[in-house]
Amino acid sequence: MEVKVMKNILGENDKIAEENRKLFREKNIFVVNLMGSPGSGKTSLLEKTLSALSEKINVAVIEGDLFTAKDAERIERQNVSVVQINTAGGCHLDAPMISRAAESLDLDKIDLLIVENVGNLVCPAEFDVGENVKAVVLSITEGDDKPLKYPLIFKESAVTLLNKIDLLEFTNFNLESAREDLTTLHPGLKIIETSCTKNLGLEDWTNWLLEQINFPA
Ligand code: MG
Ligand code: ZN
Repeated sequence: MEVKVMKNILGENDKIAEENRKLFREKNIFVVNLMGSPGSGKTSLLEKTLSALSEKINVAVIEGDLFTAKDAERIERQNVSVVQINTAGGCHLDAPMISRAAESLDLDKIDLLIVENVGNLVCPAEFDVGENVKAVVLSITEGDDKPLKYPLIFKESAVTLLNKIDLLEFTNFNLESAREDLTTLHPGLKIIETSCTKNLGLEDWTNWLLEQINFPA
């Protein structure tokens, strides 16, 4: 019974996700669904990404949050268009939410749309929102066991950002085994080590994004 309900929900979601994807393709917008645990550094990475890219291309952001507008307020300071979605406790974004949020964006003026999903390693990976790629942030402080404990999100993502890499020496995070687990789960996965406080790996990430939209770096 429950399985059937879930299948119907996902089926309806996928239909709207496909409509979103079609609309974004028509408007020539590349869409990234940025996922990761609470505190993994999604918003900080987004701030760095926007400050590096906003002079080259037009970037817009959809901010998913459980209750507050705290992240959207941080993004607004970067002078990019941002739409806030409050899920009122909902633990992931879905395609209908993105469809509604897109109505408040000027789609003719966007090259790259980044969707910051709700902090959660589980169901955001199950809900297609109409993105081109999913990206997941895994911070060093979360532990190297997360890829095997939450395999779907790492299988679904085109890129994993190993964030807060500057803290590696203060933790027992085994970088080698984490990389091995990630590559076993998802052969060909792009892995980038980043730190927002020490400005590490950010150019690899933004260059990767520019490559995806065929912008000469
Ligand atoms: Mg955030
Ligand atoms: Zn959820």
